[in-house]
Amino acid sequence: MTSAPLVPAPVTVRVPAKVNLELLVGPRRPDGYHALSTVFQAVSLYDDVTVAAAADWGVTVSGPLAAGVPENGDNLALRAARLVETHFDIDPVHIAIRKGIPVAGGMAGGSADAAATLVALDHLWDLDLDREELEDLASELGSDVPFLIAGGTAMGSGRGELLAPVLARGTYHWVFALAEGGLSTPAVYAECDRLRDDEDVPDPVPTAALMSALRTGDPHELAAQLSNDLQAASLSLRPDLAEVLAAGMEYGALGGIVSGSGPTTAFLVENSEAGIDLAVALTASGVVRDVRRASGPVHGAHVIHQRTD
Ligand code: ATP
Repeated sequence: MTSAPLVPAPVTVRVPAKVNLELLVGPRRPDGYHALSTVFQAVSLYDDVTVAAAADWGVTVSGPLAAGVPENGDNLALRAARLVETHFDIDPVHIAIRKGIPVAGGMAGGSADAAATLVALDHLWDLDLDREELEDLASELGSDVPFLIAGGTAMGSGRGELLAPVLARGTYHWVFALAEGGLSTPAVYAECDRLRDDEDVPDPVPTAALMSALRTGDPHELAAQLSNDLQAASLSLRPDLAEVLAAGMEYGALGGIVSGSGPTTAFLVENSEAGIDLAVALTASGVVRDVRRASGPVHGAHVIHQRTD
């Protein structure tokens, strides 16, 4: 009697979004990237990425935030799978993404899906990748991808891909205001360069005050240290975001910044109840498209389900 070939059970990986607590943008490097010093925090807005053995390579995207995400080889999740294929002898997979992370919102949703796909393929095909192999593949895919595998709170240098752990106490509560449309990350960096054209931009160095604030676990201390060098550029391209930032502060946020390259804005609040109040007020104000509440830090990409039937 011959037995049917073994098809591995599909694997689902949950992956968080990120917010940059501090994003310091240094000079443009010869390779075109900017030297960065950033502190990332993983927050509880998630994409779920299910990877299953299939006859051909493919990707589908679902969920209320799916609009505008490519279902072809441009999708970063599929690019991650094809990168793994160049290193390991793996069969094709179909990738199903359920998006809960705002698209083109400065929260690294595409990078998150790439991170999730690497972790899922490692399980699906028993690749047994060690941390270093995963990180190498991740940084080839994008500057934010290694952090979305690691999660938690971490410092990123280089172009953001070189990670070092940060001691952070407590849980922080966030309200994210989603804006109409997206912002292209390269366009925001280009605008940042244009605005700083006549400045001598120093190499970015992480600020000690932010590290101290994170050690206290006190959201008031952290709120005072939030900073984003891309914010002026995002506001220059999207002046409407200034109104959103002002509304968030008026309705009780401890601090507010543009998230990464925007246009999502991130508000730090005192606790979960304050988050509900701010979310309700921002929604009623009509200045935002939608709001999401989240907390951080949370874990990076992790398997939540492997069907066993
Ligand atoms: P970052 O913060 O890393 O700069 P972002 O959060 O601003 O990124 P993404 O959500 O990653 O932006 O999407 C940027 C663009 O990438 C989208 O407009 C979309 O066309 C493309 N894209 C490719 N793959 C994906 C994916 N899996 N999810 C979301 N967008 C994707």
